[in-house]
Amino acid sequence: MSVVPFLSLDDQHRSIERELKEVFSKTLKQGRFILGDEVDRFEKEFAAYHKSKYAISVANGHDALMISLKALNIGKGDEVIVPSHTCQATWLAVMNGAKPIAVEVDPSTYNIEASLIENSLTKKTKAIIPVHLYGHPCAMDKIMLIAKKNDVLIIEDNAQAHGAVFKNKMTGSWGHCNATSFYPTKNLGALGDGGAITTNDKKLHDFAQAFRNYGSGKKNVYSMQGVNSRLDELQAAVLRIKLKKLDEWNEARRRNAEFYFELLQSIGDIQLPPGTNKKATPVFHQFVIQTAYRDKLKNFLLRNGIETAIHYSVPVHLQKAYESLHYKKGSLRVAEKLADTVLSLPVWPGLKENQLKTICLAIKKFFR
Ligand SMILES: *Cc1c(COP(=O)(O)O)cnc(C)c1O
Repeated sequence: MSVVPFLSLDDQHRSIERELKEVFSKTLKQGRFILGDEVDRFEKEFAAYHKSKYAISVANGHDALMISLKALNIGKGDEVIVPSHTCQATWLAVMNGAKPIAVEVDPSTYNIEASLIENSLTKKTKAIIPVHLYGHPCAMDKIMLIAKKNDVLIIEDNAQAHGAVFKNKMTGSWGHCNATSFYPTKNLGALGDGGAITTNDKKLHDFAQAFRNYGSGKKNVYSMQGVNSRLDELQAAVLRIKLKKLDEWNEARRRNAEFYFELLQSIGDIQLPPGTNKKATPVFHQFVIQTAYRDKLKNFLLRNGIETAIHYSVPVHLQKAYESLHYKKGSLRVAEKLADTVLSLPVWPGLKENQLKTICLAIKKFFR
């Protein structure tokens, strides 16, 4: 019996159930399912939310990254800096021609260590992909400076950080092109796959808009060979409803995090994730602790009805799919250690205080 599921969307969906059913009926009646008004409106609203000029919706987060790279003309022979610890989609999107070059993350923030980036730049480096992992903003001030100084481009991977802010500027609005995902479990999630690119550059917008639709910006005019990567009308309509609730839901995640920060201080060897500070307002896509007893703790919690998760249990560079990059075990020690020690606790909006208490008490009991 599970007392606390790792994630439940029930509460969020219940609060908008009437609106969801309305757009379902409306879309059904209208009979337009691809690239219609809902997609147009969502793109405008999503761009406005980020104070970006443009948003281009696509089929998923991987495609948002892949199309961003294409738009910036990055491919064969080029190198792209990526964090050593991330969702493998970040690396996979780069493998579509270019080569990912891993830079270690700061184990206290889980984000790419800005001070290590310059060591990895070569003549071939075209871009850096900062990933705001678990919803915590990267040090975008430092990263933008490095990019400017070395003439490389920035593509933010904002899949886990919708609504996060760094120095009064939204994540997903710093880079030349920024990619995000609306996979159902993300802070802003569709009822299926979805993704988007944000940019202030009209040329990049025009390219991405054509590329996602076979390479056609205008009806029956194919200026290039693109892909089919479109967001459905129905998903766009759902995302418009959810976007209005995003700040409220993120606030609920931050409240849950505060609860953990208070109750999990100085317990065993637990290292807590970074919280809100002067520069960064995180959105706690995940609440990730570190402990050397990770697997034992995970099992103990499960026996007590508490589900947790591991993001990610095998580092990307040790997956078979990436063996052509020739990273050996021991080559990215921070990422390898994190794979053995990280544990994501439930942090979803709708989690009740007694559930949070149950989790914290169980953790305390484990370390006693
Ligand atoms: C989810 C995620 C992606 C990929 O998104 P999909 O929509 O599943 O393709 C990319 N990067 C990060 C950091 C993610 O969390």
